[in-house]
Amino acid sequence: MSLSAGANDAGGARAPGQGAYDAAVPTDRQSPAAPTYDLRELGQGLAIYERLDRLADRFLELADREVGPAFARVPAFLARTRAEAGRAGEYYRRTTRERYLVELLACVVMSRQFWPEFARRRDTVLILPDCLCRQGSACKRKRTRYGTRCTACDPECAIGRMTVAAARHGAAAYFSDLGHEKQFRALMRGRYPDLAVLGVACIWMLASGMRAAEQAGVPSQGVLLNYCGCEHWRDDPVVTDAVVERVEAILAAKAAASAPPA
Ligand code: SF4
Repeated sequence: MSLSAGANDAGGARAPGQGAYDAAVPTDRQSPAAPTYDLRELGQGLAIYERLDRLADRFLELADREVGPAFARVPAFLARTRAEAGRAGEYYRRTTRERYLVELLACVVMSRQFWPEFARRRDTVLILPDCLCRQGSACKRKRTRYGTRCTACDPECAIGRMTVAAARHGAAAYFSDLGHEKQFRALMRGRYPDLAVLGVACIWMLASGMRAAEQAGVPSQGVLLNYCGCEHWRDDPVVTDAVVERVEAILAAKAAASAPPA
């Protein structure tokens, strides 16, 4: 199917001399309706890609109007990281402003897609980032087989507040400190076989974490860090922040089997 469609997308007939292949594969006009998307609905040949470029331009214009100020410093950061020696493995430091906007949208769209299954699963687990912890090396977290757990030693700490909120709604909370796939496997093999996860992370990490969860068969929801603060992004790491009420609203909506919070 793909070979047939690809050759004809270019706008011409199949080259003669392809023998049995010609006879076996239907032409573009004969092929049945595509089961998912069909770019031929947009035009022919390169016209398809002109439409896609226009879509990207329009999306980026809209994103600029709606959320642009939040990303104003990305180009300067990118200029620095492009010039830096070393840190080659930290490819995400070289993320463009446009890509941030697309990944932000991806987080929102994935949350919508995954909500019904997230709401159906019995075992909800919060996965929380180290950079939200307020006490640094004085943190009183405890190691478990599923990852380290907050003991709520500081009522002002966002991790502590999210952990307490999770407990109020029958959910558990762990730091994200094992690697996504390993942690999901450990959770599902152990106490949380019918797993759904609520992740808190920066845009880049949340988008990749939600995709990793999807691949592991785990429906997820996400809450964004308001800003990046860890050593991957700053030479002088700071404690980050996130909207704890958003975590609470997602857990409350799941417990009430209602629609996702707006
Ligand atoms: S509240 Fe939890 S995460 Fe925050 S410092 Fe205490 S044990 Fe660590």
